[in-house]
Parts: sequence; structure tokens; C-alpha cells
Amino acid sequence: MSLTVLMNAGPWLSVPPPGYGGIENIIATLVPELRRLGVRVVLASVDSSTLPVDEKISVFPDGQFDALQRPYNQVCGIAQAHLGGVVRALHTRDDIDLVHDHVEAVGLATLAAMGPDAPPVLHTLHWDLAKHPALYGNLEGGDRVRVNGVSASQLARAPRALRDHSVGHVHLSTPLAIDADRRPRPDKSDYLIILGRINPGKGQDVGARLAQRVGVPLVLAGPVGPYHRPEDLAAAGDEARQNPDVRFFYDEVAPHVDGDLVRWVGTVAGQERDDLLAGARASLFPLRWEEPGGTAVVESLALGTPVVATARGCLPELIEHGRTGLLTTDEEELADLVLAANALDADECRREAATRFTPAVMARRYVGLYEQVRRGATAR
Ligand code: UDP
Repeated sequence: MSLTVLMNAGPWLSVPPPGYGGIENIIATLVPELRRLGVRVVLASVDSSTLPVDEKISVFPDGQFDALQRPYNQVCGIAQAHLGGVVRALHTRDDIDLVHDHVEAVGLATLAAMGPDAPPVLHTLHWDLAKHPALYGNLEGGDRVRVNGVSASQLARAPRALRDHSVGHVHLSTPLAIDADRRPRPDKSDYLIILGRINPGKGQDVGARLAQRVGVPLVLAGPVGPYHRPEDLAAAGDEARQNPDVRFFYDEVAPHVDGDLVRWVGTVAGQERDDLLAGARASLFPLRWEEPGGTAVVESLALGTPVVATARGCLPELIEHGRTGLLTTDEEELADLVLAANALDADECRREAATRFTPAVMARRYVGLYEQVRRGATAR
């Protein structure tokens, strides 16, 4: 197949990301599989990205993630500067067949406004969109722009203007799902884990209270705002509290972090992350938001760790209650489910990941969508 895709990863983190980075992880998972299927990939990211691709476009030397804490106009300035590089490339070359865009709002509006000479765009929605309808404005003039969700529930909640441009959803994947069903059985210890950004939506406060109540150790892994290690947060002092996730951590989570039963270990990466996830009795998602795609959910399955969660967002699509995890709509019931999770079979979880969530499954689905979007753009 001869298809050249400009993959717009944005300027925030390198690809693959150094630790935390849901969108960049997905791009790093998708691109090698696309290239295996014969797709040429031009990556628009930052210079420090190390993902092997056919060509790179970048405006910034390295990830601008920390700048996301700055005032909104400065954040937009960075996004616009990055996008300037993408738009210049699209104006000056004619070998790009399709843009696969992962950058929120600003990027989509600009690409939508580029007119019929620009290649068609497939934009992957990564967030809970019901909360941010204004971000997308309208897509008028965006006939060549199509969107896909990362779950059916995310699309169902999306504003009408986006749903009207939708070509369906593609579940997230993880390289861990390759051969997941053939990996040796993990040695489990008696602890729970919540892997994710410390944020009210992810519900670490609920998890911490629950762990104290049932007396099961809980590991909280993930960044608090821009702080990846407990010592960095401690050193930042009071100024750090300007960040809402830092305030949430200090006010709602930290009172339950005793360093013994409940621990915050900061961001974990690589083998350490995988070992921590594989060793847990259950992976806990006491969600307060409609989880759009749930990479960490899929990673848990791939590593043989059943999921105990509130049945929000994409969770019911990813988890089969009673087989790969336990779901409830009642936060109070989570404690009972945690205790019942021991009865679930790690092999069932891994088999599910190896069947439904491999990078190859995700890439084949995207190639299908690329073809659909290109056919639609030609027909219009
Ligand atoms: N992650 C990580 N280390 C951490 C916390 C999170 O590597 O300490 C990764 C996690 O494994 C997953 C991603 O960051 O791949 C988070 O994606 P997810 O879709 O679960 O959540 P989001 O933050 O995008 O809402």
C-alpha cells in the first residue's frame, strides 16, 4: 500500500514519552505497526522524539509539557507555533495523503480551515468531550475533517458537531498486549494499585479511603500536576498549590497517605511500572469522570491484573464484569469488589488483551479508517 500519513503528535512531549504521556504512548504504539503495514509516516512532534519514522517535522527541540502550567495565551502560542510547522509542510509538499491529528482544538480548527487543497484529516479524540464542547468550536468548512473516538461511550457523549463528523471508534492498545497470553503467570502480592495522573476524575482519594477501610495496601503511581517525584513536589513549596491537581493531592489524598498502607510513589516508568502493575491483586479505577479511552485499563489486562472500577466512560466496553474485572455504579460497593477480585483469573485478563487490544488490531482498524476518510474526501 502506498500511503503517506502526517502524524501530528503535538509539541508537549517527545514520542515515546519519558514517563507519563497517554497520547504519545499510543502514537509510539501505533506508528511501528502502521509502517509494518506499508504506511509511510511523517511525524510532527519535537526534535527529541526518538520513535523511528520515515521523516520528522519539529519546531521545538524538546517537549513543552511544563509550559502547560503557564497562562492560556502562552500555551496557545506554543500550540500555534508547532502547528505553523505542520501547516507550512502541508502547503509546500504534495506527498501527504492524510493527516492523523492528535492535538486538541487549536490544531483541528486550523486544519479544518485549510480548504480543499489540504489533505483530509482524521482527528483522534482523546478526552472526555462533554466537558469541553467549546474547545472544538464548529467544524464548518471542515468537510475534509473526520474524527474518531477511543471508545463508543466517549463518542456518545461528544457534542453533536463532532458526532456528525465521526467515523467510529478505535480502542486504545498497548505493546504489552502482544503475546500477553503466553507470558508466565505473574507473582501476585497483596496490594492494590491506581496507575494514573493524580486528579479528582481518577479518584485517588476514594481509593485511599477505601484501602484504609479494608486494610489492603494501596500504591498510588502517577504525577501530581507537573511533579513526578515526591521529593520534587516537597521542594516546590507553597507555590505548587496554584496547580489544581496539587491542591487536590494535598487536600484530599495526602491525609490518607501514611507511607505504610497507602503510598504515593510518583511517576513510574518502564519495567518498574510493568512489575508494579503485574504484581497487584487488582488495578483500581474509582473514577469520577467518564474515562474516555483507559490506556491503563488495557495495560492492566495485558499484565494479568483484573480491574475493579466504577462503571464509567469506557470501562464497561473494556471490562467484562465477573471475568476480567468487577464493575459497579455504586462507589460504596468498591470495597466489596476489591475483596472479591482475588477470585478472578489473570489468564482471562491476558487472553482478552491479546485478542482485542494488540497494536496490530489497532493499526489495522486505523488503516481502514484512513481509507474511509480518503474515499469520503474524494467523493465530496
Ligand atoms: N503512566 C505511566 N506512569 C505513571 C502513570 C501513568 O507510565 O506513573 C502511563 C500509563 O501507563 C498510561 C498513561 O500514562 O499509559 C495514562 O493513560 P490513561 O489513558 O490511562 O490516562 P489519561 O492520563 O490519558 O487520562
